[in-house]
Amino acid sequence: MHETKARGRNAPLLARSGEQDGLAFSAEIGRIALLMKQLIPVFFAALSLAAAESGAPVGKFQQLDPTIPTPSAQRNASGAPGTAYWQNRADYDISVELDDVKRTITGEATVTYHNLSPDPLTYLWVQLDQNFLSHTADSRAVPNTKRGIDPAKITYSALDRLLAYEDYDGEMKITKLTDAKGNELPHAVVKTMLRLDLNEPLAGGADFVFKIAWSYPINDCERINARTGYEFFKEDGNTIYTIAQWFPRMAAYTDYAGWINKQFLGTGEFTLEFGNYTVRLTVPDDHLVAATGTLQNPDAVLTKTQRDRLKQAESAMKKPLFIVTPDEAKAAEESKPKGKKTWVFQADDVRDFAFASSRKFVWDAMAVEGAKVNGKPVMAMSLYPKEGMPLWDKYSTHAIAHTIQVYSRYTFEYPYPVAWSVNGPIGGMEYPMICFNGPRPEKDGTYPEKTKYALIGVVIHEVGHNYFPMIVNSDERQWTWMDEGLNSFVEFLTEEEWENDWKHRRNERGMTDYMRLKDRVPVMTNSESIADLGPNAYGQPTVALNILREHILGREAFDHAFKTYAKRWMFKRPTPSDFFRTIEEASGVDLDWFWRGWFYSTYHVDISVDEVKWLQLDSRDPAIEKPKKKKEEDELPKTLTRERNYSLSKRIDRYPDLKDFYDSYDKATVLPSEKKKFESLIKELKEEKIDPALLQTKHNFYLIEFSNVGGLVTPVILKVEYTDGSSEELKLPAEIWRFNTEKAAKLLFTKKELKSVTFDPRQELVDTDIENNFWPRRPVKSKFQLYKDDKPVNPMRELTKPEKDEKAEEKKN
Ligand SMILES: [Zn+2]
Repeated sequence: MHETKARGRNAPLLARSGEQDGLAFSAEIGRIALLMKQLIPVFFAALSLAAAESGAPVGKFQQLDPTIPTPSAQRNASGAPGTAYWQNRADYDISVELDDVKRTITGEATVTYHNLSPDPLTYLWVQLDQNFLSHTADSRAVPNTKRGIDPAKITYSALDRLLAYEDYDGEMKITKLTDAKGNELPHAVVKTMLRLDLNEPLAGGADFVFKIAWSYPINDCERINARTGYEFFKEDGNTIYTIAQWFPRMAAYTDYAGWINKQFLGTGEFTLEFGNYTVRLTVPDDHLVAATGTLQNPDAVLTKTQRDRLKQAESAMKKPLFIVTPDEAKAAEESKPKGKKTWVFQADDVRDFAFASSRKFVWDAMAVEGAKVNGKPVMAMSLYPKEGMPLWDKYSTHAIAHTIQVYSRYTFEYPYPVAWSVNGPIGGMEYPMICFNGPRPEKDGTYPEKTKYALIGVVIHEVGHNYFPMIVNSDERQWTWMDEGLNSFVEFLTEEEWENDWKHRRNERGMTDYMRLKDRVPVMTNSESIADLGPNAYGQPTVALNILREHILGREAFDHAFKTYAKRWMFKRPTPSDFFRTIEEASGVDLDWFWRGWFYSTYHVDISVDEVKWLQLDSRDPAIEKPKKKKEEDELPKTLTRERNYSLSKRIDRYPDLKDFYDSYDKATVLPSEKKKFESLIKELKEEKIDPALLQTKHNFYLIEFSNVGGLVTPVILKVEYTDGSSEELKLPAEIWRFNTEKAAKLLFTKKELKSVTFDPRQELVDTDIENNFWPRRPVKSKFQLYKDDKPVNPMRELTKPEKDEKAEEKKN
């Protein structure tokens, strides 16, 4: 073979592969084998050279076994709950009052804790997450951003928030803690947790009942940032309350980490136990309340009209119906409460409970088509003030219904009777059956396109959290990605089904700036230690899972595996290894390298198409090869020196005696020995039943060489264009990197002539440097702005020249 270097640096490539003697393959595979025999040494020469240059392999294809926990009787090797799986439970019976004047929460609960573990427990841990807003909280002492607050650049709102913390102490005061009989229980508050000491150990399988009472002042969300709080409307003097993390919640006791005692610093969300809740919410009698669960006393808290409309809404599937109309909400805004009302809610198998309360609410509802629980339609419902219109009345409830329909298809059927979306001061936060969402139109009723998509997107996202982590109950305090990442991924699928070309998706291209950051941390990092939480825990898992689905497993295998994971861990507590193992086991593909790269490392995708070597088959026929070689030599460029020297008078011309045989010998002449050798080769091939015509094949062989600059192991998708105008897409699995994670090559044989090669032609693999994706290289467009140089201050001109001169000077710049 001849090698024609198409581009790039020298490489020790030998087209000659040695002798063709001793051919022993069958005629069928002879053709390919013959070609490969010639090419394989080419490959290995290139690969071994690269390996020598780059040092030892870095283990990107090493199995995960030493990294992930050993399977157990609780979590088996296939990633499913094991035969001895257990989790504890906590049932709550709570009475709580929301005081709209003092703006406080005062509650009392009877908690029944079920120790379903095999272990005796000598104390119970209870979460008081509200304490992260106490005056002495660690969350106030540590900056919440990567670089802390830059005192030189503090914003007005940041300053206002600092001042607000001076006036506000959000500590949850425990006013009573007794056993069922009323005997006081010893306990200690440790920051955002409370340790309840038991007089005697609580045996595995036994229950413990205790009573606890508490109160705390509700935070003003505008000044004290949290996932809960109130919003005050100056114009009408009313308040919207969106209340969460408002009661002492049992910490989780687990088979993999004992008590989850990671303190709350404000980022890592909540790790909770499932249980049944009965909650009596006492609020001003003109408030509307939405909460986790089913309303138990509609006759006591709703008007007959409202109850009738709710009944009608159960068969409305095309358009939400108003249960409380905008006019009625307007009238309520101007009312004064005459007393209090108690709303009673019951919720089974939930891991938390949240509620919203205000007199400002408009209420609409519709049934979710195809979704039923206990024979009744699942209701999608929204609460919003008039300030949320005209966006909320159009989109919120539809977005809830859409979420339930699409998520149920990718995971499991929605198991709860209702899903609420409530507009208040919280940008977006999820609880079982209820979520709080922020986007609103401008005051004049118009809105930018971005706000519309922000609203639909956030409703999809927060309602989607019912699946992850409200039902697939992953440990949020440890792993943000397990709920946010998986949820953002299904959110993305759901938005894709809202309309074509959904406008505000987190797309692959938007991730590249983040992926090339040097101070990134792996996705497998504890929630409280991730500064760039959005791209790390939401964006990166989303793009990774999409690549897994579209380019590694394929949709069928991925969707089956993802659904298997969701179903296996419904109402249970999965860990990362349960996810990794289930996806591999259910898809039938070993993906250890994928988890290693996308979840455990900070490598990024950056593949360079280094060069393309053009190889043509050596026909071995001297009558063809010798003239070809001569022509190539003749066509080599001549140096300027030599060209100039041609005109000099040459001695050999002046003295013809100096000429001999070689002065007229044609290098293309086929020598008898060469002819004989070729004839014996043909004879040999015939004896081996190999068609000698193979040697005349007109194929081009291209060796496309890549290097992995970013380090992340990735499938290689190529668009190959030919000089005849045609093109094709090649998909090389990530295993192309398995022997050498730095360099790889692909051999292409084709009758066509190659024009260009593009890596990641659709820009969907999050490649951080587009420029090296093209062979031959092509310039990549990027924008730059021209800045005027800052001129030094010139007091002399300012003080001595008239103003108009200054303006003239400005113009010249
Ligand atoms: Zn989320």
